Amino acid sequence: MTYWIHIARSIDRVTLHKDRCAEVPSSTIGSSSDFWEGGWFDYPDKERALAAMEQAGTSDQRRCALCKA
Ligand SMILES: [Zn+2]
Repeated sequence: MTYWIHIARSIDRVTLHKDRCAEVPSSTIGSSSDFWEGGWFDYPDKERALAAMEQAGTSDQRRCALCKA
């Protein structure tokens, strides 16, 4: 299953989502999100998504309340 992380630098938060969560914008695919600016990033498994959350460097790490990733 694909997992998504949403990095929000402005609020110093990263959030984990499952694939097809209603909060994941469909238009992110192929977008030019910049890691350092933040944005949406997809990973092929939960382990890699969690590792990416660790590396995001935000002080707040959350799991989506909607999709319960
Ligand atoms: Zn979600």
